[in-house]
Amino acid sequence: MAAERLAHAGVRTMLIDEKMAWEKPCGGGVTFKAYSQYPFLAKGLSHSVSTTWLHADSTPSARLTLEQPLLIFSRRDLNQLLLDRAAAAGAELITTRVTAVESAGNSWSLSTRSGPLQADHLIIATGARNPLRAFGTPWTPDDTMVALGYFIPANRSHIDIRFFADLEGYIWLFPRRGHLSAGICGKGVTAAALRQRLERYLAQLGISYAGAQFYAHMLHSLAVGSWPNNRLAGPGWLAVGDAAGLVDPVTGEGIYYAMRSGELAGQLLAERRQEAYAAQVESEFGADLAYASTLAQRVYMGRFCGGSNTTRMLQFLRRSPRIQAVMQELFAGTIGYRELRTRIRGNFKSTMAEIAINSFLRRIVTS
Ligand SMILES: Cc1cc2nc3c(=O)[nH]c(=O)nc-3n(C[C@H](O)[C@H](O)[C@H](O)COP(=O)(O)OP(=O)(O)OC[C@H]3O[C@@H](n4cnc5c(N)ncnc54)[C@H](O)[C@@H]3O)c2cc1C
Repeated sequence: MAAERLAHAGVRTMLIDEKMAWEKPCGGGVTFKAYSQYPFLAKGLSHSVSTTWLHADSTPSARLTLEQPLLIFSRRDLNQLLLDRAAAAGAELITTRVTAVESAGNSWSLSTRSGPLQADHLIIATGARNPLRAFGTPWTPDDTMVALGYFIPANRSHIDIRFFADLEGYIWLFPRRGHLSAGICGKGVTAAALRQRLERYLAQLGISYAGAQFYAHMLHSLAVGSWPNNRLAGPGWLAVGDAAGLVDPVTGEGIYYAMRSGELAGQLLAERRQEAYAAQVESEFGADLAYASTLAQRVYMGRFCGGSNTTRMLQFLRRSPRIQAVMQELFAGTIGYRELRTRIRGNFKSTMAEIAINSFLRRIVTS
């Protein structure tokens, strides 16, 4: 996105990536927020899925038919799409690994596996495992989740999300074109424990992962105290996407934030207004992501009315049109966390009334 915007504005741009289009470990879920803002994403490369089943401990599953489907991409296809757009705009694509970056007065000297390169400005988009640690978010282990899973050669027509009362994270089963991306993310848990939990769940559903490709990666989930010190920019450089820690700490959504921060970085640099970048990210979505980090643990592991939050969420989802409407917006990515808080507080009494009436009616109908 950044390279495309810069090249489109006539700036000489090199896009350096050691792998270019590859099957990066990822669910590949792209929300309505992303494809409504970038309609080129909705042009048939992905699998569009509307039916979602949510599962939690000790309660029946809840079905949610998404008014705005989730698009599920193979990351190889999504990367290729974005690279093609950058190349078409005039960016030069260079496949190599950057091994070091040094300041050379008002410019930068890059060491790469294919020799040295020079640049006036840098946009660091090296992902969560950013090896250029002098740039981008200075994360510690508290700022990360483990995410792992399998690409399983199987067909499935709906999404499954499984919550657990003792896990800050969840399992997802995302149907893609030609295979299933089954994964789990969790904070403060070992990769081995997460893998075991996922494998047990797949076995329960009768989904065989024998011979399926395994993947594991780090996923940012910045801790509350890390947001104020997050480094989005410095003299001569801007950081975007995962390298800048821009991932939703509750859901793990990062594709939209990577695209939008890349777009902003490219646009502002082309207009020579790069000093506005950090404030723009902060006001558009950074402050909301920081607020989300205060909720993450409570959302998954908190309790409400004597039960786990996730169990209650499913019970309420089955009984309250208001909660269904909020969930629709959460899946579409169209509601911020601060707005969500206001909405839930404002509607609390009517929502509880809805739930009580529906539970009562259900009892009468059953008896
Ligand atoms: C298991 C898992 C599941 C996820 N599921 C979802 C999901 O369903 N939906 C969603 O929105 N988000 C999801 N995310 C998050 C999402 O994958 C990331 O937020 C997103 O890919 C960030 O994009 P990026 O461009 O910043 O980094 P990346 O996509 O990681 O790209 C970084 C690029 O930098 C290149 N690179 C790194 N170092 C160098 C170097 N030294 N030299 C040259 N090249 C280099 C790499 O080759 C890579 O291509 C998931 C993440 C994980 C780990």
